[in-house]
Amino acid sequence: MNTETHQFQAEVRQLLDIVINALYSDREIFVRELVSNASDALEKLRLKQLTDSNIYQPDKPLEITVATDKENKTITIADTGIGMTEADLVENLGTIAHSGTKKFMEALKQKQEGGADLIGQFGVGFYSSFMVADRVEVFTRSYEPEAASLRWSSDGREGYSIETLAEPLDRGTRIVIRLKDEYEEFSQEYRVKELLRRYSNFVGFPLNFNGEHI
Ligand code: ADP
Ligand code: MG
Repeated sequence: MNTETHQFQAEVRQLLDIVINALYSDREIFVRELVSNASDALEKLRLKQLTDSNIYQPDKPLEITVATDKENKTITIADTGIGMTEADLVENLGTIAHSGTKKFMEALKQKQEGGADLIGQFGVGFYSSFMVADRVEVFTRSYEPEAASLRWSSDGREGYSIETLAEPLDRGTRIVIRLKDEYEEFSQEYRVKELLRRYSNFVGFPLNFNGEHI
């Protein structure tokens, strides 16, 4: 088992500082962002399946699973989609390479201070999970047959670690949000169920929540 530590790109640190400290009231949008990433990952896998016969766990159903654990104050969003390699993790969850976050940073540069109002306007994608989290863990295994099973972990400050797991994971990505005490409502079933019902309309894959189909 080996663990590597990485620094976030300076722009990511700046973005996270705003995301974590802004007086922004719509923190629930992180659920929508993570469900939409899960849906994108499943769509990418579905496209791969059309052209590539060499896919890990080819018969695994394409689905999203959300679970809350109020004792441990976590919410978990998992998918059986395309997954990520180590290079994908570094590129996707350590830099600002994506349209939404890029536009956010550009808009921020035009402004003198704040940025809270821009969060909702541009969306900050994956990084929005740090609005409610003390720590975010990403367990992931790419669709590529020889890919490693990986754990990405960060408190959203300076950087993140990537560990190669000895125990193989199933294909896809599982994101565990360890909630701050003040946002433990997102480990409560009724709170998350209401949000998922709202988002399930735009998700083209089965969505399961605490063992129930939504
Ligand atoms: P966007 O969705 O606009 O590209 P995000 O910040 O939401 O930006 O996500 C950044 C990138 O991280 C995605 O483009 C994707 O490559 C990767 N990613 C995030 N979540 C997942 C996931 N569940 N499965 C695979 N890749 C993911
Ligand atoms: Mg996204």
